[in-house]
Amino acid sequence: MFDIIVRGGKVVDGTGNPWFKADIGIKDGKIVELGRLEKEKADTVIDARGNVVSPGFVDMHSHSDLTLFINPKLESTIHQGITTLVVGNCGISLAPINKKHEHLLERYIAPFLPPGASIRFQWSTFEDYLRHENKQDLSSNVAHLVGHGTVRVAVMGFQDRAPSDVELEHMKYLVAEAMEAGAFGMSTGLIYPPGIFSGTGELVEVAKVVSKYGGLYSSHVRGESSNLIYSIEEAIEIGEKSGVSVQISHHKVAGRQQIGKSVETLKLMEDARKRGVDVACDQYPYEAGMTSLATLLPPWVHEGGIDQLLERIKRLEDRVKIRDDIEKDTTGWENIINENGWENIYISNVKTEKNKDLQGKNIQEAARMMGKPDELTALLDLLVEEEGSGTMVVFVTKEEDVCKILSNPLTMVGTDSWSTSPEGVLSAGKPHPRFYGTYPRILREYVRERSILSLEEAVRKMTSFPAQRLRLWGRGVIRENMWADIVVFNPDTIMDTATYQNPHQYPEGIEYVIVNGEIVIDKRQQTQNYPGRVLRHKFPKKTFPHDGRISLKGFEEVFSSQKDRDRLTL
Ligand SMILES: [Zn+2]
Repeated sequence: MFDIIVRGGKVVDGTGNPWFKADIGIKDGKIVELGRLEKEKADTVIDARGNVVSPGFVDMHSHSDLTLFINPKLESTIHQGITTLVVGNCGISLAPINKKHEHLLERYIAPFLPPGASIRFQWSTFEDYLRHENKQDLSSNVAHLVGHGTVRVAVMGFQDRAPSDVELEHMKYLVAEAMEAGAFGMSTGLIYPPGIFSGTGELVEVAKVVSKYGGLYSSHVRGESSNLIYSIEEAIEIGEKSGVSVQISHHKVAGRQQIGKSVETLKLMEDARKRGVDVACDQYPYEAGMTSLATLLPPWVHEGGIDQLLERIKRLEDRVKIRDDIEKDTTGWENIINENGWENIYISNVKTEKNKDLQGKNIQEAARMMGKPDELTALLDLLVEEEGSGTMVVFVTKEEDVCKILSNPLTMVGTDSWSTSPEGVLSAGKPHPRFYGTYPRILREYVRERSILSLEEAVRKMTSFPAQRLRLWGRGVIRENMWADIVVFNPDTIMDTATYQNPHQYPEGIEYVIVNGEIVIDKRQQTQNYPGRVLRHKFPKKTFPHDGRISLKGFEEVFSSQKDRDRLTL
């Protein structure tokens, strides 16, 4: 007697091998039998005839840590078939928290939250955070990375300088704590503050800690446009010098002058692998990207955090300098305006009622609607009114590079989204269609319509490859004894329906989603089940040398409670 039998589907098992016919017997959260089970009984029988049965998708690049406390149903991702979210990306995780700098982080993540929402940090260490999250209902599993940016904020705020030796030791210590708590690796966001203030040497030192724990170094690299090649080389160098596995996040070729450069970036990765550097990448299959509006400003404007940024953009002399930096394209930062043009930058979310009409408009149109003399004035005035918040969708890349990257075997899939919903507070604004459509879009356009990938290869990129990357050995493949994370979809009808102008729309053709042996999507409808878990990276305990070489002096500032300090005095 099984809990569930999935009967009669074509099993695409995640390995990349051709599909085979099998029934799947599920009990107590796991796949317990694969084969012909027509005589067996179960509480629930799913008729999968005509459908594909694959492992649940692992979203290699998620920011759903920002919204899962607001809405644990995670509609936009579970409806795509995502059963595991890898969060804490682009340098920003929600722990560790140094109470002294808590407000800086709070202000920093505000642009990504719906109007009126905020996150209360009821934790300090990574362990505290994961325990807190574990009490939460979740419709899918969550695997965490620790954000290098968050660690840096905890130790030194948003200061634009290299860390002192002591500060660097503190950062390493915080990363070690996160890894011991169960983080799967560390992320960096090198176009964002405070990651933008860090040098390669600092990153190598911190990555060495991640490497000791067998974790992953996942990087939003220093630039995706004119400094793309250098940035990929830097990520590879960090892998080479620290021994860590490198993941290039949402790999793309951005900027009008860079079209076709994916040939070079993929070659760099392939060559590095020949030298023994374990490097791979993830991608979402669209020509536009999305991030905060404030990312358009040069690095120096961000020093000290959002409040100081707001003061600067109000000052006339600083506005002159900002204009100068953008127009002269000073090197060393991701100059999105100069690389892509104002007409390609669309406002996607704002917080104030007053500016709601600007959502879905590009900055040229917005400048006209706001009655401003030019686009930069419009942007800066908007940022002032929004108190530094606001997000944008930017058309940065071309299909030829999207395709080239997608069809390379080193590329896996990630949405780069935070779970959203067509209802409630998370339905605000016009998020990037990748929030709802990434996985079905690949299965429709690149598999069914254009045959750029085989079905089996596409599923491999969505399942076993990211699971292997995370060393998540119990998931990502359909086999006996694996956790029953399963998607049932119709390969002939699966499609994304979310568009740039109308993004809050579920895909079609995904019939069932099972997480840890419980049905979360049942005939396209979400159930009231919350079987998701906070997953923890397994590692040989205490491999990091906490042997007194790191002075605990100064940690009283990083950790507020005696309990935390005691726990860290390993
Ligand atoms: Zn990113």
